[in-house]
Amino acid sequence: MSNVILARMGEVTLKGLNRGNFETQLKHNLKWRLRSFGKLSIYQSQSRIWIEAKDEDNPNFADAASAREIMNAVTQVFGIVSVSFAVKFEGDFDCILAESVKYVTQLLADNPDYKTFKVECRRGNKNYPLDSQEIAAEVGGVILDSFPDLQVRMKDPDFIVNVEVRDFNYVYSGKIMAHRGLPVGTAGKGMLLLSGGIDSPVAGYMMASRGMPLECVYFHSHPYTSEQAKEKVIDLARIVSGFSGTIKLHIVNFTQIQLDMLKNSPQDMITITMRRVMLQIAERLAKQNNCKCLITGESLGQVASQTLEAINVTNEVVKMPILRPLIGIDKQDTCDISRKIGAFETSILPYEDCCTIFVAKHPKTHPTEEDVRKAEENLDIGAMVESGLKDVETIVI
Ligand code: ATP
Ligand code: MG
Repeated sequence: MSNVILARMGEVTLKGLNRGNFETQLKHNLKWRLRSFGKLSIYQSQSRIWIEAKDEDNPNFADAASAREIMNAVTQVFGIVSVSFAVKFEGDFDCILAESVKYVTQLLADNPDYKTFKVECRRGNKNYPLDSQEIAAEVGGVILDSFPDLQVRMKDPDFIVNVEVRDFNYVYSGKIMAHRGLPVGTAGKGMLLLSGGIDSPVAGYMMASRGMPLECVYFHSHPYTSEQAKEKVIDLARIVSGFSGTIKLHIVNFTQIQLDMLKNSPQDMITITMRRVMLQIAERLAKQNNCKCLITGESLGQVASQTLEAINVTNEVVKMPILRPLIGIDKQDTCDISRKIGAFETSILPYEDCCTIFVAKHPKTHPTEEDVRKAEENLDIGAMVESGLKDVETIVI
């Protein structure tokens, strides 16, 4: 007898001819994400993936409580829909009955107020002498005999006993929901403009959930933005990387560029001008690093620089597509996702990002092409972009 983690695949199983590639990527990502949890064997049968310890005394598999951390890590691997902790054993039908009773004994010890249950069975081995309904009925019967206080309830029971009969037998109860999506690495790579706010980490998470590996760029204006603001962005990149895998974070020194803008262009256009230069630097970094698109946390109408007019005049400086997964998302929903991925507490730490200090009191909300031309006529934008690209610190997270 041993303990195993059962992970169910989602959308991946709907893929046609490509399904194999998606599954291989998913298993590779699981292996990488779980690399600190000891030597594991990760194998697949139909739409399920089983994760087992190669060493018998791996503490992560001692019991369901010890497995919590590794199971949470599994839920963060895109492509998995849910995760359960199961007991695996060999043997005939009497063994299945005995193990089920043993399993419920432990479950009731941990949850003394459980009163109702049902049994669900899946049979991978179609030659088995009993079909799944018969197995479920027999297991239910022996549980009722052993625990006279329990009752069967088909709708909303306190717990479900799941029995799976395959090459081996498995018993488990309950499941944790995972983050679904597609395995990272099945789409091309994107360059996320990551600031210290709530929105951009969520935007990165959303694109990674569609299979996209990420790199990040952060524009830092030391000393106008503090060392803590930079640490915060590094922390956010680390949180996103729990889902997306390794992230290369490019930190661009933006101070001199911003000071030049402040001196030589109108205050009310500074956010737009800044955004236009950021995007050009980001696009160049993206090309250098084989990224196929840019990603921002913009949401329509949220702030002055996110009106349609402002988005249009910033969009036009780059050729690469800019993905804005939050464009139509309500701020409240973005905050919910931010909490769900564990970024919110970090995002709301009160360190200014580079825009806070350099923002105008009354920014232009409907900039025209003429406004942009005037704002940039005394600036050497090309030189700014080049100088930004010369002063980049890159960290691998
Ligand atoms: P966020 O919550 O992501 O900070 P925001 O609501 O503060 O977004 P803006 O400040 O208008 O909105 O920024 C819009 C987008 O531009 C951000 O989501 C991010 O993708 C990008 N961005 C803004 N400032 C920076 C920065 N200093 N470095 C990198 N990207 C930035
Ligand atoms: Mg911000």
